[in-house]
Amino acid sequence: MDVMKIGKFIADCRKKKNITQEQLAEKLHITNRAVSKWERGLSLPDADKMLDLCKILGINVNELLNGEKITMKNYEKKTDELLIELAKQEELKNKKMITDMYVLSITTVVFYIGITLLASYTLGEGILFGIIVVISTFILVMVGFYSLKLEVDAGYYECKNCHHRYIPNSYLKVLIAPHLNTTRYLKCPKCKKRSWSKKVMSKGDNN
Ligand SMILES: [Zn+2]
Repeated sequence: MDVMKIGKFIADCRKKKNITQEQLAEKLHITNRAVSKWERGLSLPDADKMLDLCKILGINVNELLNGEKITMKNYEKKTDELLIELAKQEELKNKKMITDMYVLSITTVVFYIGITLLASYTLGEGILFGIIVVISTFILVMVGFYSLKLEVDAGYYECKNCHHRYIPNSYLKVLIAPHLNTTRYLKCPKCKKRSWSKKVMSKGDNN
């Protein structure tokens, strides 16, 4: 997605409608700064503002994200390009979440072992040692849950049996499922069979 082009397009459409940045911001209940940032290509409108923005500017979301008016002739091509681009962005975002999950959990486990060892050497088995162990264990468990959330939210699990890709409907089910890295033994909502479902980054079926 070309953020500069989108920004320039927003500015052009706004000027054609004869409204100022301030007026546009007011209509959308956001700050002038936000509008100015879009128009300078420093950020994209939030998803929840896009529809209203398009309505005001008299364009559609497809045109907004392409940064240009779309004629019937190039409509299909543009839509395809946009869908591919969105899928790519989703895949990248999901990959990043998985990386974050690994970095976060490995760092925390190393930190946890380090701190408990250090505390046991320096403090013996006093009450302070107990407190440190309780606090760091608590942090470890919290990070564990957060990592699980990152894993579940990133992409989909693919059923080994029917290749259906899905998002499990509860974190608990994932939590109690046996796993090897991010491959988990889960029950598929489509064929209802349990299988070692591997993590995939996009919804697109490859069978
Ligand atoms: Zn299945």
